[in-house]
Amino acid sequence: MGQLNAGIVPVTPFQQNCTILFDMDDKTGVVVDPGGDVDKILSVLKDNAITAGAIWITHGHIDHAGGAMELKDALGIDIIGPHEADKMLLDNLENQGRRYGIAGVRNCVPDRFLAEGETVSFGNHQFEVLHCPGHAPGHVVYYNRAAKFAHVGDVLFRGSIGRTDLPGGDHAALIASIKGKLLPLGDDIGFICGHGPGSRFGDERRTNPFLT
Ligand SMILES: [Zn+2]
Ligand SMILES: [Zn+2]
Repeated sequence: MGQLNAGIVPVTPFQQNCTILFDMDDKTGVVVDPGGDVDKILSVLKDNAITAGAIWITHGHIDHAGGAMELKDALGIDIIGPHEADKMLLDNLENQGRRYGIAGVRNCVPDRFLAEGETVSFGNHQFEVLHCPGHAPGHVVYYNRAAKFAHVGDVLFRGSIGRTDLPGGDHAALIASIKGKLLPLGDDIGFICGHGPGSRFGDERRTNPFLT
């Protein structure tokens, strides 16, 4: 088994960072948050000869989960996550698609919901599941201890935090998720987030205006 690598495919009008996590040696991996533009995701997989074994979802918003069923059907793979508390959001994606004028969105039915403390993996790459509500009630973060890496979805951004004005949002819960679960993992943990560039927990702990 080789090193863990990540490729980002911006999808949907929200420029969401659909993330392909894969092993450098055997080119197997997973697709995190295929919010839409599924043809584009499939071309990136094909062009890089990456075999995706599963779809992992961080939370039930349209830009993260709107293309999951289409990708599942195209590849014949399971949808894993988020936490069941986002089922209401996942069941409402088609309505959201109409509201935002995004075509081709389907309600998402995961093959498996996740809970705090569970582990998901591909090859030798293991990720701990952290339930981090606040931006969405069922938001999960995927944390790879060995690689000092986390995919934090819309919980935390470089210099910002997830919005909490959408249904199920809770500012106090979001801050508790970040300060109670993410930052304690260590300053040297690098992360990819749902929008914009990634960062390190230490840099956010020191400079993020929402956390100081
Ligand atoms: Zn979101
Ligand atoms: Zn988002």
